[in-house]
Amino acid sequence: MKHNTSKKNVAILGAGIAGLASAVRLAAAGYEVTVYEQAATYGGKMGVWQKEGYRWDTGPSLFTMPHYVDELLHIDGKADVPFEYEELDKICNYFWDDGTRLTATKNRKQLLIEFHRALGELPKTLKAYLKDSESKFNITNHVFLEKSLHKVRTYFSWPTIRSIFRLPKVQVFSNMHTQNERRFSNPKSVQFFNRYATYNGSNPYEAPATLNVIPHYEFGIGAFFPKKGIRSIADAVYTKAIKLGVDFKFHTAVNYVSKVGGKYVVNNEGTYDIALCNIDVASAARGPLKSLLGHKRKEYEPSSSALIFYWGMKSGYRELDVHNIFFARDYKKEFNSIFKQKKIDEDPTVYIHISSKCNTDDAPQGGENWFVMVNAPYDDGQDWDTMIGQARTSIVNKISRNLGREIEADIAVEHRLTPQLIMSKTASYKGALYGTSSNNRMSAFLRQANFSSRHKGLYFCGGSVHPGGGIPLCLLSAKIATDIIRRDY
Ligand SMILES: Cc1cc2nc3c(=O)[nH]c(=O)nc-3n(C[C@H](O)[C@H](O)[C@H](O)COP(=O)(O)OP(=O)(O)OC[C@H]3O[C@@H](n4cnc5c(N)ncnc54)[C@H](O)[C@@H]3O)c2cc1C
Repeated sequence: MKHNTSKKNVAILGAGIAGLASAVRLAAAGYEVTVYEQAATYGGKMGVWQKEGYRWDTGPSLFTMPHYVDELLHIDGKADVPFEYEELDKICNYFWDDGTRLTATKNRKQLLIEFHRALGELPKTLKAYLKDSESKFNITNHVFLEKSLHKVRTYFSWPTIRSIFRLPKVQVFSNMHTQNERRFSNPKSVQFFNRYATYNGSNPYEAPATLNVIPHYEFGIGAFFPKKGIRSIADAVYTKAIKLGVDFKFHTAVNYVSKVGGKYVVNNEGTYDIALCNIDVASAARGPLKSLLGHKRKEYEPSSSALIFYWGMKSGYRELDVHNIFFARDYKKEFNSIFKQKKIDEDPTVYIHISSKCNTDDAPQGGENWFVMVNAPYDDGQDWDTMIGQARTSIVNKISRNLGREIEADIAVEHRLTPQLIMSKTASYKGALYGTSSNNRMSAFLRQANFSSRHKGLYFCGGSVHPGGGIPLCLLSAKIATDIIRRDY
C-alpha cells in the first residue's frame, strides 16, 4: 500500500457504495478524504425501509462477488469491521404461467437434473453453456472489468493482448437471445438465460452476447446473502471509512464544483486537489459539474428502471424462497414494451425477494417481507400513476394465479419505489438503475471513463461509469478510479 506523505485532499461527491469504497481505498492510502452526500445517510440506492416490524433493503437484493467487499474491509490488514454472509444453495425459484416450475441451485449436479426434469434440456447442453459463460468471464473479467478501458497502458499488457485475441469467443457481434436460442431447444431455457440481461438493465434481444457471462457470476461463483441484509454492506464499508478517518458531510448537496488554479472548489466551502464524482455522471453533467462536463455531451440510452412494491405479508409462503421469478408469457413483447414503447408490459416478469426467509428478524413472526419488482422503462414523462395502478393489478393477479392463492388479503403494509423516486432520491438520470444500457455492442467503450481527459484531478466512480452498474462493478469502479488517482498523485 502506498502511503502518500504529502496528504493530498480529495472530495468525493456522493456516498453511494462506490463513493464509500473509494473513500476507504483513498484514506487507507494516506489521502485526506471528505465525502459530500445530499441525503441524511450513506448508501444511495442501497437503502433500507422499516415499518410495523418489517424491514426491507430497498435497492439491491442479489449479492455476488463478496470477495470485493472482504478485500475492502481488510485493506489495512485489520479485521476490525464485522461483515458476515452466507452462500445460497437454492439460488432462485422460477415459475411459468403454464405451471412449469424450476429451482436453480448452486449444486451443479442437481441443477443439471432439474433443467432436464423441468425443461427437457440435456445435461451436456447446460454444461456446455455454463462452461462457455465461464470462459467469457475468464476473457473479460481481469482485462475489461478490472482495468480502465480508456488508458493506453491497459492494452500493453500480455493478459489484455491474449484476451483481445480471444475476443471472438465473447460474441460481441451477436445478441444474447440469438446465441441462447442456438444453444437450447426449449424456449423457456432461452428465456431463463435471456433474463440475465436485466442484471444491468439491458434488453437481451439487443445486448451483445458477451453478457452471457453473467450466469457464471451466479452458477460459477455463487449467490450470497449478507446475514444482516444488503444494507449491512454499506454499513460495513461506511464503518471502515470512519475508522480510517474519512470525514462525511451529510445533508450537503453538491450544487457547484469549479476549478480554480488547478484545484476543485466544492460549493464555495472546500478546496481540494482531487474531485471524485460518485453522482450519476449524466445528472452531474447537467448539475454540479455542468461547467466542467456540460460541453457537447452525447446522450446515451439509459438502462431500464424498476417499479418496486414493498409488501409486508401477514403469512408465510412455503413455495417461495429468497429469490423468486414469475416469468412473462411473451418475453420479447415485455422488452419491446420497456425499451420501445417506454411502458410496463401488461404481463410483466415479476421478481420477489424475501430476505426474511434467511433473516427472520426482517418480518413479524409468521409473516414475510416481500420486495416485489418489475422491470420498468426509464422516466420519459409517462403517466406513471395510471401505469403503476395497472401494473399492481397485473402483479397481484399473476402471483395469485401461479400460487393458487389470493395474495391481496395478505398484504398488511405497502410502500413503493418508482423510477421518478429513484431519480429524486439518488439523482439517477431518468431513474435508470444501472447508468447507461448495455444494448449497444460498443457500450462498454462508450461509458464514462474513470477519469476526465480534459480536467486533471477529476475522476469518476459508480454505476454510471466504467465498468458499469451493480454492486460488484461499482466496487470495481472505485478500485479502478482510486488506482489511477494513486498513480497520478
Ligand atoms: C431497485 C434496485 C434494485 C437493484 N438490484 C441490484 C441487485 O440485485 N444487485 C446489484 O448488484 N445491484 C442492484 N442494483 C444496482 C445497485 O444498487 C447500484 O448499481 C449501486 O448501488 C449504485 O451505486 P453508486 O455508487 O453508483 O451510487 P448510488 O447508489 O447511485 O449513489 C449516489 C449517491 O450520490 C448522492 N448524490 C446525488 N447527487 C448528489 C449531489 N448533488 N450532492 C451530494 N450527493 C449527491 C446520492 O444521494 C447517492 O447517495 C439495484 C438498484 C436498484 C435501485
